[in-house]
Amino acid sequence: MHDFLLAKEIVDEVLKIVEEKKLSKISKVGVEIGQIALAHDGHEEHIEDISIDNLMFGIEGIAKNTILKETKFDIKKVNGESWKLVEIEGE
Ligand SMILES: [Zn+2]
Repeated sequence: MHDFLLAKEIVDEVLKIVEEKKLSKISKVGVEIGQIALAHDGHEEHIEDISIDNLMFGIEGIAKNTILKETKFDIKKVNGESWKLVEIEGE
């Protein structure tokens, strides 16, 4: 579940930066993912392990309707309790 919520969060964040930097072509986005604590569907905040496969699937589904449809997402799991963008390659 967190995978799909996180997918939306990541795409939104990238789109925000793309707009701020006025980029028109984004070839690659690097993301580091730890365990993600979220509150959703009436549950209190809790941690779930993120499946990279589900996350990629979610991101591709959202990104295909945006400027990011050709973008390669490079997602790496790391220790920690958050996620961050480590790289945006574009022009
Ligand atoms: Zn959950």
